Amino acid sequence: MGQIYIRNASYIVTMDKNGTVYSNGDILIQDNKILSVGKIDPSLIHEDAQKINAHDMIIMPGLVNTHVHTSQQLERGLGDDVSLLTWLAERTFPYESSLTEEDSYISTLLCMVEQIRSGVTAFTEAGGQFVGSMAKAVTEAGIRGILSKSSMDCGEGLPEIWKKTTQEELDVQEDNVKKYNNTADGRVRVWFALRTLFNNSDELVVRTKELTDKYKVGYTMHVAEAKDEVEYVTKVKGVPTVTHLHNLGVLDKNLLAVHTVWLTNEEIDLFKKYDVKVSHNPASAMRVLGFAKIPQMLDKGVCVSIGTDGAASSNRMTMIDEMWVTSLIHKGWRLDPTIVKAEQILKMATIDGARSMLADESYGSLEPGKKADLILIDPNDAMMMPMHDPIANLVTAMRNTNVKSVLCDGKWIMKDGVMITLDEKDILQEAKSHADSIRKRAGLVLRDRFPIVKC
Ligand SMILES: [Zn+2]
Repeated sequence: MGQIYIRNASYIVTMDKNGTVYSNGDILIQDNKILSVGKIDPSLIHEDAQKINAHDMIIMPGLVNTHVHTSQQLERGLGDDVSLLTWLAERTFPYESSLTEEDSYISTLLCMVEQIRSGVTAFTEAGGQFVGSMAKAVTEAGIRGILSKSSMDCGEGLPEIWKKTTQEELDVQEDNVKKYNNTADGRVRVWFALRTLFNNSDELVVRTKELTDKYKVGYTMHVAEAKDEVEYVTKVKGVPTVTHLHNLGVLDKNLLAVHTVWLTNEEIDLFKKYDVKVSHNPASAMRVLGFAKIPQMLDKGVCVSIGTDGAASSNRMTMIDEMWVTSLIHKGWRLDPTIVKAEQILKMATIDGARSMLADESYGSLEPGKKADLILIDPNDAMMMPMHDPIANLVTAMRNTNVKSVLCDGKWIMKDGVMITLDEKDILQEAKSHADSIRKRAGLVLRDRFPIVKC
């Protein structure tokens, strides 16, 4: 693969332990790893290195999105302005259960286009249906993904095709780990996933945790997501969600808990004690779930990352927008403009995202020895200028269009705004026709919001 030498960047935001930012710095990449950052010893640079002039640009680690429903990408627009129950039972369950393997592949490809265009180089799947299709799409896209199957073995209202026994759900996940974990040069990893306590028996939860330890992988779950969920668990189990998971003995450092809106202060302490990781999805939570106690979690040292959720929940699958929303909502509900600062948000979206994916030794910051996952940002437009405070600008002013190039595992996957690994035009065409046919198959008919006059 050789060397890539990117020089003369206005700023290199490394996200290392000290938060080092280099001005007018360079970065040297050897194969798929970072060799040197900052001021580079000229003797390290090979004559035939690919040289990139990053004058007036910002370089930072690729963004890490810790909650993505790849299987909901073609469902965008089917979940707006409805109650949570309608969203779930009348839209999302019928839609997702109508997907074929091919639909899941196209859905994931479209999702990858959106991720790459918004500067993401690593993501965690929330739990979909066809891990093989997702793995194929992620392998082709060139980014990193932790994939999993959504597992459910109980609960009301599940589509017939999803009614599985505990053993069946464990078997298929175990099989996925064996088949796809650590494929595509290690870019594709496979974890276990639990949907929610509405649809997961205690046996499934406990045996899932046992299997994650056996295979040395993580697991992810929607935890204390909705008020209804915590009330339901309290009624059935006698204690709220996180306390119940603690009683089952499954809180651990390899759990990536998603949303975590309805936690007591004692439950936040449990997260800290067991080093449970949190994926904060502010836009989707704002719709219906509520305000997660992110300021308290950060104060207590809980590892918090950011996720976009699915396209049917937050509509914008972009970490850039999600960082902006994160910068606003906690200040708003706490009436305190000094909390959840831009530098904390950048950490959540990079190195702490990598930590949540149990991969902070490998990526999430720009340091020698780490994987070459980075993005080049051009801030020279009316949306991002001037640059009095570049860190604040990255969080509160940057748009997708400022992301010009994306490098993952030492390979360009977008260069100067052009997708390298994926045929974007073709994917958009395929996505249109697949989305229409899934909607029809699922029997979803939406009311017209305005009278439509055919011409
Ligand atoms: Zn989710």
